[in-house]
Amino acid sequence: MTQQTKKQTQQNLSTLAVHAGPRKHAHDAVTPAVSLTSTYTFESTKELCAYFDGDLEREEYGRYGNPTVRGVEQKLAALDGAQDSALFASGMAAVTTSLLAVLKAGDHAVLTSDCYRRTRQFVGSFLHKLGIESTLVEPGDFAALAAAIRPGKTKVIVSESPTNPYLRVADVRRLAEVKDAHKGVLLFIDSTFATPVNQRPLELGADLVLHSATKYLGGHNDLLAGCVSGRAGLVQAIRDLRGVLGGVLDPHSAYLLGRGLKTLTLRVKAHNENALTVARWLEGQPGVQRVWYPGLESHPDHKTAREQLSGFGGVVTFEVKGGLAAGSRLVDACRLARIAPSLGGVETLIEQPALMSFYELTTEQRLAIGIKDELVRLSVGIEDVNDIIADLQRGLAAAQLKEAA
Ligand SMILES: *Cc1c(COP(=O)(O)O)cnc(C)c1O
Repeated sequence: MTQQTKKQTQQNLSTLAVHAGPRKHAHDAVTPAVSLTSTYTFESTKELCAYFDGDLEREEYGRYGNPTVRGVEQKLAALDGAQDSALFASGMAAVTTSLLAVLKAGDHAVLTSDCYRRTRQFVGSFLHKLGIESTLVEPGDFAALAAAIRPGKTKVIVSESPTNPYLRVADVRRLAEVKDAHKGVLLFIDSTFATPVNQRPLELGADLVLHSATKYLGGHNDLLAGCVSGRAGLVQAIRDLRGVLGGVLDPHSAYLLGRGLKTLTLRVKAHNENALTVARWLEGQPGVQRVWYPGLESHPDHKTAREQLSGFGGVVTFEVKGGLAAGSRLVDACRLARIAPSLGGVETLIEQPALMSFYELTTEQRLAIGIKDELVRLSVGIEDVNDIIADLQRGLAAAQLKEAA
C-alpha cells in the first residue's frame, strides 16, 4: 500500500467508525436504541406469510437477529471492508461457529502453531472427535504449509496475526497465494491483535477475518463479543449456524461495542504510539533480556510488519532477566499496570504468560510449546506513556532485587 492510500484509509476509517451503520434511529435520536426484546410481533398472518416467503425483510426471533446487533454488524463490515459481518457472544463463539460452518467429517484444516490456544484446542480435540483432521505448521514456514495441504480434503487454513505472546506477523498475502493455488480452500485470519486499523486481511486476500471484539474493538474491558467479516454468502452461512448453535450477542453488549467502536481509530493510534515508545525503552533496559514487538527492527517479522501492517499494535512482550520469580516481582511492583489476562482495553494490563494462560504446565511442558518462564506480556493502554514507563521502571527495579533474605 502506498503512503497516500494508507493515509486515506485511516481517514476514512475514522469517519466510518463514527458514522457507518444505520443512520435513522427511533425518536430521531442521534444514538441507536438498545432493542431489548427476545421476540417480534406480526401484524397479521398475511405479514407472517410474507416474511416466511422471503418477500419481507424484518426480525422474527432474537436468536436470528436484533436491530441493535445488526447496526453494529453493519459498522464492523464497513470497518473491515467486507460485504457483511456477524457478531457473536464471544470471540470463541465466532471462531467455533465459523469453523463448524465450513468443515464436515473427513475434512482437514491447517492451523499455524501459534494460533490462539482455545482455537487450537477446539480444532485439535473437539473437531477431531467429529472426524475432522488438522495439521499444525510453524508460522512463516511456507514449505511446511504447502506440504500440509491435502488436495480435496483441506478446506481451511487458519492463521492469526499478530500472535500471542511473541507478536509474530503472518504474511497474509503469501498465505492467500498458497490457498489460491488450491481449489476449495478458505483462508481465515484472526486479526484480533491488529484490528481493521492496523491490518486489512480481506484486502490481502483472506476469505474471512475474525476478531475477539472483547479486546480492541470493544476497547474498555467491559464486554465479551466476537465478530467475523467476509463475503456475504460465507457470512450468511455462518450467521445461519449461529441461529442453531445460539452464540448470539446480547443487545446491551452490542450497544457498548458500537459505542466503543466510535473511538477505535483514536484508541488504536494511541496504543500503537505508546507501545512503540515502551518497546524501544524496554530494549535499552539492562534488566531486560529481549523485547518482542513487531515495530522493533530486532523482531523476526519486522519486514512483513512494515509491509502489511499500518501500525504495530498495543501488545509488547519482553523477557526479564532472573526468570519466573523476577517476572513476578516485576508485575507485583507495578501500580498502574494491573495484573490480568486479556488485552486491548484503555487500561494497561500486565501478566506472565507462564502463570496466566499456562499455569497448569511445568516449565519443561511450557518450553516444549515455546513459552518461556521469563516472559512478561504487557497490553499497553492509552495512559500517558511517561507514567507507563515510570511504572515499568519501578517493576524492573523490583525484579532485580534478590528475594528478601
Ligand atoms: C481473546 C482471543 C480470542 C477469544 O476471544 P473471546 O472473546 O475471549 O472468546 C480469540 N483469538 C484471539 C487472538 C484472542 O486474543
